[in-house]
Amino acid sequence: MKVVFDDIQKLHNPSIFLSSGVAKPNPDQPRRADILLEAAERAGLERVVPADYGLDVIAAVHTPEYIAFLQTIHERWSQIPGASKEVIPNVHPDRRNGSYPQSPVGQAGYHVADTAAPIGAETWQAVKHNAFSATHAAQLVLAGAKSAYALCRPPGHHAFHDMAGGFCFLNNSAIAAQYLRREHERVAIIDVDLHHGNGTQGIFYNRRDVLTVSIHADPTLFYPFFWGHADERGAGDGLGFNLNLPLAIGTGDEGFLAALDRGLERVAAFAPTVIVVALGLDASEADPLAGLSVSTPGFAQIADRIAQLGLPSVIVQEGGYICDPLGDNLTSFLEGFRARHGS
Ligand SMILES: [Zn+2]
Repeated sequence: MKVVFDDIQKLHNPSIFLSSGVAKPNPDQPRRADILLEAAERAGLERVVPADYGLDVIAAVHTPEYIAFLQTIHERWSQIPGASKEVIPNVHPDRRNGSYPQSPVGQAGYHVADTAAPIGAETWQAVKHNAFSATHAAQLVLAGAKSAYALCRPPGHHAFHDMAGGFCFLNNSAIAAQYLRREHERVAIIDVDLHHGNGTQGIFYNRRDVLTVSIHADPTLFYPFFWGHADERGAGDGLGFNLNLPLAIGTGDEGFLAALDRGLERVAAFAPTVIVVALGLDASEADPLAGLSVSTPGFAQIADRIAQLGLPSVIVQEGGYICDPLGDNLTSFLEGFRARHGS
């Protein structure tokens, strides 16, 4: 298995986010990428640098105005006298169905859901190449590899068609899934991040060609609050093609694996020919975001069960923040996956 990563992805270096109104250091530090890369190499993966796939692969998932916003907002924001170094919204439009704003402040409110996705001077370059890593991993699988791991950092699964949030800007898992649709009729995304994959759900909510399954801490008391509940099942053509499996705060290996089995049953019934694993490692018992209690060996068991599907697999990094076992959790997952999958 290859690990796909470009050093440009580390240029995004957010300073803060607000947690219950308090400014704290942003946990999505560039050093996460170093830890995860080292851990992937320890699991025997060989590093490759992604090709440049152009904007088409991003525009297949995100709207033109949102892409233009990400490309230009930092420069326009910087021209506001006394503005902060990073773009952080201070207006939050209710329902977003009014006129599209022209001012950078208005657009920041329109396109960024919360304070956890600050946009710096290098953010666009970093997230663009992040998307290329996801695409490159998908391309490796289309070209015949049984699996590939995209080391995406910052993560992506909280990003909607036209909205950033929760450390995420471009939805790398969705971009990989959409790219795989070029040759696969049915693609399933299995999201095991601590948090609900609300952006991914939103992007595919009305579609039945991409099944979305997410296992996560119950959003009744946990980010992303407004999405991730069990009664969100898709809409229109997509009704029944979104499955949310919320878990009580503090759930450990046993409860997580039981929910995963339910999710994998749904995936098997959908009969995809390829899967995307949205691999958050923040369900770890040691993660600073402290929602679930998966152990390091637990990640190998999660991987083992997903690998039992026996399908070509694109693994896309999502969350998982700096803590002592972060690297070991990735190594555990990848080794567990490879042992069962034979890839
Ligand atoms: Zn997360």
